[in-house]
Amino acid sequence: MVSALSGVTDVLLTIAAEAGASRTEIALAHVDRLRERHLAMVQALVADRDRGELTQAVEGQFTELAAVVQALAVLREVSVRTLDVIAAMGELLSSRIIAAALRHAGLPGEWVDARRAVVTNDDHTRAVPRMRETTAAMRAMVTPLLDAGRVPVMGGFVGATAEGHTTTLGRGGSDYSGAIVGAAIGASEIQIWTDVDGMLTADPRLIPQSKLVPHLSFAEAAELAYFGAKVLHPSTIHPAVERNIPVRILNSRKPEGQGTLITENPDAQGGPLTAMAAKRDLTVVDITSSRMLMAYGFLRQVFEVFERFQTAVDVVTTSEVSVSVTVDDRRHLDAIVEALSECGAVSVEPDMALLCAVGDRLRADPAIAARVIRVLEEVPLRMISQAASRRNITVIMRQTDLPHAMHRLHEEFFQ
Ligand code: ASP
Ligand code: MG
Repeated sequence: MVSALSGVTDVLLTIAAEAGASRTEIALAHVDRLRERHLAMVQALVADRDRGELTQAVEGQFTELAAVVQALAVLREVSVRTLDVIAAMGELLSSRIIAAALRHAGLPGEWVDARRAVVTNDDHTRAVPRMRETTAAMRAMVTPLLDAGRVPVMGGFVGATAEGHTTTLGRGGSDYSGAIVGAAIGASEIQIWTDVDGMLTADPRLIPQSKLVPHLSFAEAAELAYFGAKVLHPSTIHPAVERNIPVRILNSRKPEGQGTLITENPDAQGGPLTAMAAKRDLTVVDITSSRMLMAYGFLRQVFEVFERFQTAVDVVTTSEVSVSVTVDDRRHLDAIVEALSECGAVSVEPDMALLCAVGDRLRADPAIAARVIRVLEEVPLRMISQAASRRNITVIMRQTDLPHAMHRLHEEFFQ
């Protein structure tokens, strides 16, 4: 399963936008540059004698892309269906090239068209796989290749509806594809080769001493990803979680590294906490009202306002007479504040940050959460929250306090 060459999906989406705005010349110039780049890759990675057929396939893809650009200039409108046809080209190209490159390197690489193997619904640009159909297609197309000792190579991010319309799974969807395909063929392990060593105890830009997390649970990975750890998106591993398939993150620039293994139940050898994640640029909104005391329906009224303005809240804490929530989308903030004024006195505090410490051990040992709070004693904490999963403890503070808080926690728990 391979991703597009670096930056290619972005360029393809630019091509679609330029073409839809009838800036055909600009779009075609981009097409030309992409074509040159892919042909150079073919030159570099594939032997002379194998090049003919592949070059033809690559050229064919770019002829098709140029034709789509011309059509869009006339239509002046890019449908999501067309957008997916264009966006999918990066992976369709890279996977063909890599399959040939493997053969050049002496491995029996075999290209598999992801549009025939990954069956999705028709929610274009963020399609969801239909696992039953995908499993059947994979068993028919890929399992026989594996049985014959061949190395199937497929583009990630790409699928098609049962009717054969090309779809894509959402930006960054190649990892998701890896998990879908691993689940469909019943793989014993899914490996995601990327450009970092694995999951780290903290964002290395903030904590240079951060360390590799060798082993964590699916649930911990999901909490970390939700709160801003960049390595894996929760939906990415969902097909693997359902079938309990281990996922390993490895660094393609350092193949000898051990990486991070994510499984259902890691052995309990690790420390009290597994890792932490942070999120900046949050706004805290407080609603205070004595009406909340002993009343029902108050929280519903408050959350209805956020729903009406389609603004997600991350962390919520309540007291007897107040509710505090954090939001990171400020677009409708003024309107939200105005609407909330009907519920009580509203105050807004921008430039806040969230720090979340995650670890399965938090569930069993309440002393760990207490230790977290104690370590952060000199940091003014605005909100503290531990949800029912009890796998994370989340604190909200001023953004300017975040680096210090992270250092304190890291020192206490990870060094
Ligand atoms: N090429 C796609 C993207 O850039 C998918 C991926 O790289 O995972 O979003
Ligand atoms: Mg990518």
